Amino acid sequence: MITTKDKAKIGIIGGSGLYDPKILENTREIKIYTPYGEPSDYILLGELEGKSVAFLPRHGRGHRIPPHKINYRANIWALKELGVKWLISVSAVGSLRMDYKPGDFVIPDQFIDMTKGRDYTFFDGPVVAHVSMADPFCNSLRKIILDIVREMKIQTHERGTYICIEGPRFSTRAESRVWKEVFKADIIGMTLVPEVNLACEAQMCYSTIAMITDYDVFAELPVTAEEVTKVMAENTEKARKLLYEVIKRLPEEPDERECSCCHSLKTALL
Ligand SMILES: [Zn+2]
Repeated sequence: MITTKDKAKIGIIGGSGLYDPKILENTREIKIYTPYGEPSDYILLGELEGKSVAFLPRHGRGHRIPPHKINYRANIWALKELGVKWLISVSAVGSLRMDYKPGDFVIPDQFIDMTKGRDYTFFDGPVVAHVSMADPFCNSLRKIILDIVREMKIQTHERGTYICIEGPRFSTRAESRVWKEVFKADIIGMTLVPEVNLACEAQMCYSTIAMITDYDVFAELPVTAEEVTKVMAENTEKARKLLYEVIKRLPEEPDERECSCCHSLKTALL
């Protein structure tokens, strides 16, 4: 049973490396059950400058759940149940272009879905919905994040196409070249889909902070685990500072001139 004390308008889904935001006060852990089963972990509820924030680590604490086994529907359902309107997702990605360097951030504006067998919708019938994915990320939220990365001088690419592959394996060299040269994708990861579509069905304002850890295999560069771990740790620290500022600055409600996320079902239901 969720009480009014357990409400939060702002949600964060943390990716690899970000299992505790460390920026919240008065925290408590709550377990939520959903019609789709259990979310990846308990949800950490806390406050930042008087605003309630809900945090969920996408892979579970200790990174127990691989990308293709994440219960995306339970994760989004649980956050929706808490009243989340703004959902900031943080994820580690690979780069498909040399000018998007390890350590840089990307705020993607498009995605390509190459996943193979996930639960993509809350509408399995009899109610059917076809949500628009022409602009899959919330423009209000993207704008706020972009303003702050500029102020904080975090090296960030303001646009990018995220190709989401099934995993858990990485791409072959041939695949990596297809994503880069034929599909013209900029970054690659395994977790954006169906998180982004489900957030849209849940009428949340959703944006991703993608943090580049390394170049994908097209680059033919030797990468050591040590290098990747170092970049990831630095990225996670930057992400914490960025999240802190973004949450501080988030208005109560999204700007309806910038986005229509809250009405995404108006034209989608059949
Ligand atoms: Zn929005």
